[in-house]
Amino acid sequence: MPEPTSRILVLGGRVLSEGADPHQPAVSDILIEGAKIARIAPDLSKEAEGAVAIDARNKLVYPGMINAHYHSHDLLTKGTTEELPLEIWGLYSRPQNYKPFTLAQVRARTLIGALECIRTGITTVQDMHYLYPDTDEYLETVLDAYDESGLRVVFAIQVSDLAAADTIPYWRELVPADLLAPIAGSASDPRKLVDFVERQLNRLQNSRPRVGWALGPSGPQRCSPEFLGMMADLGRRTGLPVFTHLYETKAQAVQARLRYKEYGGSLVTLLEKTGLLGPQLNCAHSIWLKPDEMKRLGEAGAGAVLNPNSNMKLKSGVPAMLELRQAGVRIALGCDNCGCSDVQSMFQAMKAYCMLAGVSDPTPKPEWQGAEQAFRYATEGGARAVGMADQIGTIRVGMKADLVIVNLDDPVFMPFNSATRQLVYGESGRGVETVIIDGRIVLHDRRVATVDESALYEEVRAFMPALQDEFATVRGRNARLLPHLFKAHAKAWEQDVGIHRYVGRF
Ligand SMILES: [Zn+2]
Repeated sequence: MPEPTSRILVLGGRVLSEGADPHQPAVSDILIEGAKIARIAPDLSKEAEGAVAIDARNKLVYPGMINAHYHSHDLLTKGTTEELPLEIWGLYSRPQNYKPFTLAQVRARTLIGALECIRTGITTVQDMHYLYPDTDEYLETVLDAYDESGLRVVFAIQVSDLAAADTIPYWRELVPADLLAPIAGSASDPRKLVDFVERQLNRLQNSRPRVGWALGPSGPQRCSPEFLGMMADLGRRTGLPVFTHLYETKAQAVQARLRYKEYGGSLVTLLEKTGLLGPQLNCAHSIWLKPDEMKRLGEAGAGAVLNPNSNMKLKSGVPAMLELRQAGVRIALGCDNCGCSDVQSMFQAMKAYCMLAGVSDPTPKPEWQGAEQAFRYATEGGARAVGMADQIGTIRVGMKADLVIVNLDDPVFMPFNSATRQLVYGESGRGVETVIIDGRIVLHDRRVATVDESALYEEVRAFMPALQDEFATVRGRNARLLPHLFKAHAKAWEQDVGIHRYVGRF
């Protein structure tokens, strides 16, 4: 598909442009020239002669959503697990627990995730990617697949230098050494890791038009302070956004109290002392933060990327959403791995955000306006997180033409009382009809314009039986470990970390 050189006229849609009425947005035309929005006005048909016309009458046009936390590396394990605590679930999902995937499988899994994003109206995804094996060829296969799909990606190589077993409380103590050995992982040389990331940035940073970059230190408790300091330095030198996992589970809070006494038992202090806490930083999950830690995140201009669906499935808990907002923490939303939350849908993420806010605070808050907030976090908040607030996340002249058109001739929108509420609480993705990214039509009348979907799915059906055999082998190995891992999990749960982030008797 050619790069955008043409003009597209989106005709007569209700446009959720910057400043529009969130409930009854006005009807308008949008003229796209090249990759950008050139005009927004009621009737542009005369001055848009020769443009490709898209009829958006009785349709809603809104800015494409930014899925600000995702990992494509485990997509092929979609649907293989029920609820499991994060620390244990990782044994079923991490690529290094399997034989290296073939490049064809890597291409296929990247495309499946990208197509799912496009079909649910996501136009930018932040892929925090564990490269296994860490070869140039593997990385380029992933980037080529994104390029092929037409989806915009902000890519981060996920890195950590500590052995996995040293980052999870009680594993060394409670799991027999012979069982632990195959899953314990090993420490890496921090300098070599930083050099690897920097070499890939130098080689690839401007290699593909819709591929942006970020840094991805996996989590403060998975990285040595020395390594975090090196990543902070790379962040300063490159100006790139930084994504990390922060306090996703109670076990991580326990780990902070046990292992980081010199940092006051706080991972936020660890981030601060190593130079990572600042406006470039985005903290996926941000559940088990104490009030003073939220305050410091807010004061530093750092952000949280909330992933309510994976947090519920992995038994991680519920972030203190109101307190995070009150502390001035920037908020974005994400869908997380397909290996845990199973689906890339910002509709599900937005709705879960609103629902969990509802059960987190018994006091009525008419000013809360959850749907409007969730929509803003899914668009503007995500754009800010990936460092592209001046380019994507709102419909405005001069912004990138990343637009989604939803058909309002659907029971979900009938009658049409509120664009934002019905989008957040009702839409499933069924109504997403047309998606434009960077001025290119990647989904038109529900047909993907960039990838031969039938051929892709045929290929996946052909290679999956062998992979399913391997899934069974890994399940067998994990079954022997489970009783010990559950004990370690239970012991972490018994600890008092001074806060509660769980619905129910805990
Ligand atoms: Zn994650």
